[in-house]
Amino acid sequence: MFDSLSDRLGSVFEKLRGRGALTELDVRAAMREVRIALLEADVALSVVKQFIDEVTERAIGAEVVRSVTPGQQVVKIVNDALVSLLGGDAPEGDNQLNIDVTPPAVIMMVGLQGSGKTTTTAKLAKFLTEKKAKKVLMASLDVARPAAQEQLRVLGEQTKVATLPIIAGQQPVAIAERARQTAKLQGFDVVLLDTAGRLNVDTALMAEMAAIAGATKPDEILLVVDALTGQDAVNVASAFKAEVPLTGVVLTRMDGDARGGAALSMRAVTERPIKFAGTGEKLDALEAFDAQRVAGRILGMGDIVGLVERASANIEQADAEKLAAKLAKGQFDFDDLRGQLKQMKAMGGLGALAGMIPGMAAAKKAMDSGAIDEKVLGRMEAIILSMTPKERAKPEILTAKRKIRIAKGAGTTVQEVNKVIKMQLDMATAMKKLKKMGGMKGMAAMMAKMGG
Ligand code: GDP
Repeated sequence: MFDSLSDRLGSVFEKLRGRGALTELDVRAAMREVRIALLEADVALSVVKQFIDEVTERAIGAEVVRSVTPGQQVVKIVNDALVSLLGGDAPEGDNQLNIDVTPPAVIMMVGLQGSGKTTTTAKLAKFLTEKKAKKVLMASLDVARPAAQEQLRVLGEQTKVATLPIIAGQQPVAIAERARQTAKLQGFDVVLLDTAGRLNVDTALMAEMAAIAGATKPDEILLVVDALTGQDAVNVASAFKAEVPLTGVVLTRMDGDARGGAALSMRAVTERPIKFAGTGEKLDALEAFDAQRVAGRILGMGDIVGLVERASANIEQADAEKLAAKLAKGQFDFDDLRGQLKQMKAMGGLGALAGMIPGMAAAKKAMDSGAIDEKVLGRMEAIILSMTPKERAKPEILTAKRKIRIAKGAGTTVQEVNKVIKMQLDMATAMKKLKKMGGMKGMAAMMAKMGG
């Protein structure tokens, strides 16, 4: 899922990111490509249009063009727009169901035949039972398909979730009312109503859904749609929304190779959040839909987005600019190392940062090899603080005698001091290499950007 969209967007941003400065024309050209990529992914035309307009407006704004890392800023803007398109304003994960009501909460499942409705009902029941400690009762209201009620009963056995006893000949509204009554009398927290589907949206189906919804006043009405059906999924959703008061959508077959259009259009077209995603046939293949994570998967640039976010939150402008200036010259001394250690701690540890910045590869290697770990960051700082300012600025003057003094001052061994020296050396080497490769500009710019 999203693979080809992700590839297409990746190559658009690859081009942007390599540039030192961006003009309005660059941004517009890139947005034309993004537009085509979205259309090819089967995103609804109206949704694409609005998305592109919004992103273009922000991306050609002064905030980006004047910034030192315009390419990365554009990636961040597209990311944020994707998150909001996918429903970033919806409550996350476990909090998305309105079931903390006077029991029993009623959840009605609707959708076309074959969309995965019955499977999803069982998945949701299992999730609520096992993860939310709810006492759940499932009932099939599907009297059109002879085997439907039996299918749910079997799924109930598999998931160890209670199902409403089947009474032959009873009609959907009556079954729904019996389910609610049973749940109330027997102390169930949640009733899941699995309704009948049809091959297509038709008036009889809609009338039945409306009657059930009217009689049971569900706390949630979840529409189950198959992500593989692309644009059609969106049409189905619009049709259902017009007839029953939907509260959310479950997209199934997100494990398949859908191009992603349904996921991207659904929220905008239905104005209802995607609450869950079905990711397989197994009964635990249900995920709370997380817009941030899905956007991250589509862009495949979580590293940059995270960096821009954390950077602007954490680091003092002046420090960052000073460092950027030194880095631009390919220098890296102990004061810089100390600044880095401080920033690393602030930004969630060395591991988090090391993977993001090319020049940090050396540091990451040192960490992976066990030479340093998160816990020793503080100790390393103590060692650097035991150095004189001159030693910090000119690492090459560190003689054996000085090292012994430094070790004593920091309450540690010369061996530990040597490790810090090695790290500084590795970083300095990486910086020089990066400078030679011409990558320094981007790196320095990124460091400067960390301040603001
Ligand atoms: P219903 O007619 O809407 O009730 O559909 P079913 O629940 O009977 O599902 C139809 C088929 O889709 C079954 O074979 C399910 O195993 C399969 N299915 C449901 N959800 C998913 C999913 O998220 N991923 C995959 N790969 N298959 C699914």
